[in-house]
Amino acid sequence: MILRPLYTRLDETVVEEIPFRAGDGTRLGLTRVGTGRGDRPAVLLLHGHTASSDMFLQPETRNLVDVLLDEGYEPWLLDWRGSCRLPYNETGRRYTYDDVALYDIPAAVAYIRQQIGDRPLFAVAHCIGALSLSMSMTAGLVPGLAGVVAQGVFLTPKLAARTSLKMTMAGELFRSRFDHIPVDFRKVGFWSRYTPLFALASKGASCPDPTCQILSNSAWCVGASLFVHENLSDATHERLAQLLGPAPLWILPHLRRVALARSVVRWNQGDDRYRALPENALDQAGRIDCPVLLVSGSENGMWLDSQKLCHEVLAARQPQLDVRYEEIPGYGHFDTFVGRGAALDVFGHILDFLDAHA
Ligand SMILES: [Zn+2]
Repeated sequence: MILRPLYTRLDETVVEEIPFRAGDGTRLGLTRVGTGRGDRPAVLLLHGHTASSDMFLQPETRNLVDVLLDEGYEPWLLDWRGSCRLPYNETGRRYTYDDVALYDIPAAVAYIRQQIGDRPLFAVAHCIGALSLSMSMTAGLVPGLAGVVAQGVFLTPKLAARTSLKMTMAGELFRSRFDHIPVDFRKVGFWSRYTPLFALASKGASCPDPTCQILSNSAWCVGASLFVHENLSDATHERLAQLLGPAPLWILPHLRRVALARSVVRWNQGDDRYRALPENALDQAGRIDCPVLLVSGSENGMWLDSQKLCHEVLAARQPQLDVRYEEIPGYGHFDTFVGRGAALDVFGHILDFLDAHA
C-alpha cells in the first residue's frame, strides 16, 4: 500500500517519509521535514478531513512548512486516516473521529517524541484535525505538548442552521445511493449519478468551476462554504481537486452529533475500546495542559464563530487555562492555510505563538 506522493517535491535529503501505523494498525502517512540539525522545536501539522499534508506544502504560495523551516522549526506532517493521500480513502474501512483521536494522533505524537527526545513539540491543526486533537488532549493521550494552534474549530463546534439542514439532506442521500460526495467534476463526468449534486451546488454560485462550487458554495453539499473565493490564487483554484478529496457521507452522523451537542462528543458509547476518550471533551477541558491559540477567519463559512465561542466558554469555565483567540479579518476557513496571502496575514500569528512558548 503506497501513499500518493506529495504534490510538492521537497529536497530528498531533508524529507523522511516514515512507514507509519496508527494504534489500531491502520496505515497512515508521517513525514519529517528535517534540516539535519537536532536542536529545533518540532511542530506536528494536522490537516482537515479529505485534505492532506499537501495543504501545508503548496508550491504556488509561501506555505507553512517553508515558513516554519525558515524560522527554526522542524515540521512533521501526519496524514491521518481522513487524508486524500491514502489509497483507501474512498474504499477503506469506515471510521469516526473517535478513531483519529484515539489511534492516529497519540501514535504520531509518541513516535515523534521518541525521535526528538526532550525538544519541545507543538501541534498546529486545521478543522477536523483540530477537533480530533481536542479529544486526544482532553483524554490525556497527548500530555506535555509545548502549545497547540487550532484553526477553524476546537472544543465547541458550531455549524450554520443551513448546514445542519443540508446535512440531514445529505444523510438521506447517503441512505439512498451515495457513499462519497465527489469534488472532481472532470473525474466524475458530466452525465453521471452525481450530476444532480453538482447542479445543487451550483445554485447561486458566482464561479463557473464545478469543483469550486462543490467546495466553496456548498462544502460537499453540507451547505457551508470552505473559503473566501478571492483569497485563493488562480493556481490553487485550479488544483482544488488535488487538495481536497471526496467526502465520505458515513461520517455525517458523528459530525451531526457533535454539531448538535456544540461539543466534541464521543461516537462509540458501548464499545470498551473507546473508554479512554471522554464522552464530552468540553467537560474535560480542565485536562488541557498547554497554551492554546484559537484561530479563525472572520468569514468562516463552515464553523462560523466557533472559535470565539470556544474562547468565551473556556475563559468562563476554565479560567486557569492559557487560551487566546486570534481572528483573521477577511478570511474564511481553508484559505487561512492555502490563501495567497496566508503567510502574511495568518502565519505570523502562529509563529508569534510558537516563539513565545518554544
Ligand atoms: Zn471558483
